[in-house]
Amino acid sequence: MTQTSASAALDTLSRVFGYDSFRGDQAEVIDHVIAGGDAVVLMPTGAGKSLCYQVPSLVRSGTGVVISPLIALMHDQVEAMKAVGVRAAFLNSTQDSAERAEVEQAYLSGELDLLYVAPERLSNESTKRFLENGEIALFAIDEAHCVSQWGHDFRPDYLALAELAERWPTVPRIALTATATEATHKEITQRLSLGDARHFVASFDRPNIQYRIDPKGEVRKQLLSFIRSEHQGDAGIVYGLSRNTVEKTAQFLAENGIDAMPYHAGLDARVRARTQARFLRDEGVVIVATIAFGMGIDKPDVRFVAHIDLPKSVEGYYQETGRAGRDGLPSTAWMAYGLNDVVQQRRMIDESPGDLAHRRRLSAHLDAMLALCETVSCRRVNLLGYFGQKSDPCGNCDTCITPPESWDGTIPAQKLLSTVVRLDRERNQRFGAGHLVDILRGKRTDRVGQWGHDSLTTWGIGTELSEQQWRGVVRQLLAQGLLAVNDDGYGTLVITPDSGSVLAGERVVQLRREPERVASSRSGGG
Ligand code: ADP
Ligand code: ZN
Repeated sequence: MTQTSASAALDTLSRVFGYDSFRGDQAEVIDHVIAGGDAVVLMPTGAGKSLCYQVPSLVRSGTGVVISPLIALMHDQVEAMKAVGVRAAFLNSTQDSAERAEVEQAYLSGELDLLYVAPERLSNESTKRFLENGEIALFAIDEAHCVSQWGHDFRPDYLALAELAERWPTVPRIALTATATEATHKEITQRLSLGDARHFVASFDRPNIQYRIDPKGEVRKQLLSFIRSEHQGDAGIVYGLSRNTVEKTAQFLAENGIDAMPYHAGLDARVRARTQARFLRDEGVVIVATIAFGMGIDKPDVRFVAHIDLPKSVEGYYQETGRAGRDGLPSTAWMAYGLNDVVQQRRMIDESPGDLAHRRRLSAHLDAMLALCETVSCRRVNLLGYFGQKSDPCGNCDTCITPPESWDGTIPAQKLLSTVVRLDRERNQRFGAGHLVDILRGKRTDRVGQWGHDSLTTWGIGTELSEQQWRGVVRQLLAQGLLAVNDDGYGTLVITPDSGSVLAGERVVQLRREPERVASSRSGGG
């Protein structure tokens, strides 16, 4: 049995897909599913998850039903399959009833190898009854982490997929994802009733990607200098959070001779399609995008991924950086991150709709992201550890290459926190980080004069640190939970339950020494 299914799989691989051998766990996964077993597959982006269900769908009799939330990609996926002679189709909300009827007819007559279905279709009883009238080779549940309520990408429709096991007990199911912490992995197993499945967990390490995180200054200049000095003429993706940032950054890069284009959901679909096509076809195009760009794009030679705003979760960051260097050649994941990112994201969480549990979840995601940014040890060890995988310091990330010194920041922390306490007494007032730093450094601004803050006992007691260094202290205290942003929408800083022990001198505060910001100071004025 195994012998014949293995050779059938290999035959399909070369005949249909034109490859000579399987990679990593592919062969084992495929054998197992062809034999009728359930599987949970955790593999990083680019490892080749699709073949894990495409090949068994072709080898087993019947149609492979692929459940994917990426409706926008279904058309392309189906076209790619058709191009190699696989009989594929999809069912989703973008179709009219005639198109749908045609696909349904093909399925019922056994003329489809693969049928891509949007998850919300499967919560319909009518869809399930329709599927029952044909022969199903397997169910592939792609982006399976969407079933996790704790995850960063929860889709309620995924919960209904648990029913597949009861309704089709003999049809093998394979759940796949490129992003799963141990907790998410457990949730996938439990919620999709995959208790008897075999688990295939590949290493999430991408050794050819160098991870680096710099303190944020004039971020566009930093980005330009990064691209010019290390990736001139290379293809890359730059991620920013807002459309405005994306537009401005693309323009700035273009004005400075980089072949850069913006990409976000606000642009016309045709413009987006053209941008994407240029990125795939031409060499050295840099796309500046919101997170809407990159899913399902298979470009092997993306040499760098840059984040100019802090991503909302480690899962998201890891997925996005994973788009670099799929060809295995050296690539860079570069990020700039600063105090404002923390303040802004805390504020967005406070203002986000949804219940307390939801906001706690967002907060936990942000905290994990901050821990990665502020770590004084290997970035890769931190990243892989987040996904439950142990590793040794990598030698290929910024903290391995230039180990950051840590320093005893207890006294500056005390100075800062006691200023926060003093300002907090002026109940109705709202003072953000900038004003705090002005007080500590004894800078006479209009606001200082207006509020008489030059008479505070902490006025001018912090001249030992530069403004930039103070902002670093504020940011790190926020990241360590020793300082918090009030939910008043103004970014007012407040102390936390843990601040007391610092003020009382019972707790030592270790801080990461920031590198000098070479890029922005060299490029001078403006
Ligand atoms: P994932 O879904 O895990 O991100 P894909 O399934 O899109 O990855 O595969 C990534 C790329 O690797 C695709 O271009 C695919 O054709 C290629 N690939 C996958 N498996 C193999 C293999 N065994 N041999 C050669 N190329 C492969
Ligand atoms: Zn490292």
